[in-house]
Amino acid sequence: MKITQISEHIWKCTIWIIIPISVWVVKSERGLTLVDAGIPWMAGGLLKQIKALNLPLERIVLTHGHSDHTGSIKKIRETYRVPVYAHEAEIVYMEGQLPYPGRKKAQKSVEPGIVEPLDMQSIGGLVPYLTPGHSPGHIAYYHEQDQVLLAGDLFTTKRGQLKQPMASFTADMEQAVESGAIVAQLKPKLVSICHGGEVQLPHQQYEAYRRRWTESRAGQAKIRR
Ligand SMILES: [Zn+2]
Ligand SMILES: [Zn+2]
Repeated sequence: MKITQISEHIWKCTIWIIIPISVWVVKSERGLTLVDAGIPWMAGGLLKQIKALNLPLERIVLTHGHSDHTGSIKKIRETYRVPVYAHEAEIVYMEGQLPYPGRKKAQKSVEPGIVEPLDMQSIGGLVPYLTPGHSPGHIAYYHEQDQVLLAGDLFTTKRGQLKQPMASFTADMEQAVESGAIVAQLKPKLVSICHGGEVQLPHQQYEAYRRRWTESRAGQAKIRR
């Protein structure tokens, strides 16, 4: 597992399974917050990183409930019996009670009863923002002190450019692109995502990103006519 310190309080932990899959360990004075939980094989490396930072793990918070973001929860909770939080709207899907919008089958990505609804207040130095579209209860976490936005699957990136989230896993692309305006609102120094590299000063690109989406949609409409 590759571990990169991306700001004073944040470590990004990444493995590659065709695409990069990342989670973040965020340090505050009292302890650590794990943002997302990746896939099961990341548990060992994450536990090692938590130990190396020499602070107790206090909680796991999720950007959303897709299975590549929840995989190591079980294993980590065998060592640290911490609460796990996600947006309220996400829990029915992750527990497999309903299929994610646009999917045929419900899929359980976490044992029912483990994930609690996040009260959307600042937690472990992170401010949660609801950014739906990729999934109905997708959250981006803003570390105000470091000015870093942990954006989960709100975007992908390519060579320092903001790109749309992966279409096949995105419930509502239009809404996802609109939710991306969070970078224009917060103007973070850095946006960090789960499946790709960081983008600096993402607010400078947001308008172009949205325009590319609008134009590509207009293009598609023309072809259909
Ligand atoms: Zn996802
Ligand atoms: Zn993902």
